[in-house]
Amino acid sequence: MLQKFIKKTRLPFICCLLPLAINAATIKEDKWEQGQTLLTFFEKNSIPAKVYYDLAPEDKELADEIISGSTFYTLYEGERLLQALISINEDSQLHIYQKNGVYQMRAMPITHFVEKRTLALSVESSLYNDIVKYTGDTLLASDFIQAYKNSIDFKRQIKKDDKFAIVYERKYRLGKYFGSPNIKASMLNVSNHDHYVIRHQDGHFYDIHGNNLNKYLLLTPLKYKRISSHFSTARKHPILGYKRPHLGVDYAASRHTPIKAAGKGRVVFAGVKGGYGKTVIIQHENGYRTLYAHMHNINKGIKVGAFVEQGRQVGTVGSTGLSTGPHLHFGVYKNGNAVNPLKHLQIAQTKLEGKEREIFLRLANNYKNELDGILANNIENVPFKTLKNSYIVYLTQDRLAPANEIN
Ligand SMILES: [Zn+2]
Repeated sequence: MLQKFIKKTRLPFICCLLPLAINAATIKEDKWEQGQTLLTFFEKNSIPAKVYYDLAPEDKELADEIISGSTFYTLYEGERLLQALISINEDSQLHIYQKNGVYQMRAMPITHFVEKRTLALSVESSLYNDIVKYTGDTLLASDFIQAYKNSIDFKRQIKKDDKFAIVYERKYRLGKYFGSPNIKASMLNVSNHDHYVIRHQDGHFYDIHGNNLNKYLLLTPLKYKRISSHFSTARKHPILGYKRPHLGVDYAASRHTPIKAAGKGRVVFAGVKGGYGKTVIIQHENGYRTLYAHMHNINKGIKVGAFVEQGRQVGTVGSTGLSTGPHLHFGVYKNGNAVNPLKHLQIAQTKLEGKEREIFLRLANNYKNELDGILANNIENVPFKTLKNSYIVYLTQDRLAPANEIN
């Protein structure tokens, strides 16, 4: 068994994982290049193309979820690839390994730990700039702005020395944070008025009284018969081992049913996309993208660069790229990460009621106390402290469950 131990101190935002050579095997960290596909990756590593073509259609879909620019890890012995870990969203990754000399691929969860963090600042220049200045976290800054966008006029209402606090979570993997922050609660004091935003267990933002603050950009893109497959990320099944993730929602519908743009935006992909068959991808505001797959045909005029209004027909339901019956595979991405579409589509409910509201009010009250506590202390604007993390990577050569990450 080959084990690798890497221990290092992490400086904030400056990280590198140096290739280490132990017993002639090397672990490498790389960025997935623009235009690289699983097939070209196989080619580069002398993995027979047959391995790709023999994958289940669902696995081919997952292969098309690899995000350009994302970090992936490989273990080589000389020129020979022993293993690879390639992430397909924040929670799931593809694991390529050998069993009896034959390459295999499976999806598995990404092991990470979640750290709860708090931030309290008084405004110097702008909310966005100050958050970036003191945390280096641009996604935290944009998500915070997003949470208040519908209730605060930033330009006119925010003044120097206004105070705000955020309670949020950050995922860490191999000693670095990755993915999107998860804001749990925040408070922004504007003209002596406290504006609280609380994330409920349904994933949506509410004000302190339980009124929904989200403005939904996206509508269900078709008239469907039923949902044939829900969104899920990779997770360990106690008996079957790892369960394959499904990074979208499948809507069963008759062939030729019109598919409409879920929101207004710009077409960034229109054509055949591996296991997804005929596919359209639209970029919307606020870091959202939607993906429409297995289409029978794509409408004329739906080309890269074209602007579409919400509800504009982009194509029709088919079953291209798959052997199963006609359906629309609909994917929603926030900052490049596949998220559950059903949580991001417009819903009628704008106010929490009954038992749900009671649960929320208890949660909101706890967060309010926490935020008030943070802001009761004198706020000093200081950059986040240096984190000292050490981590260990285990990649083993000769076992079926060889890739563990211990943070
Ligand atoms: Zn699907």
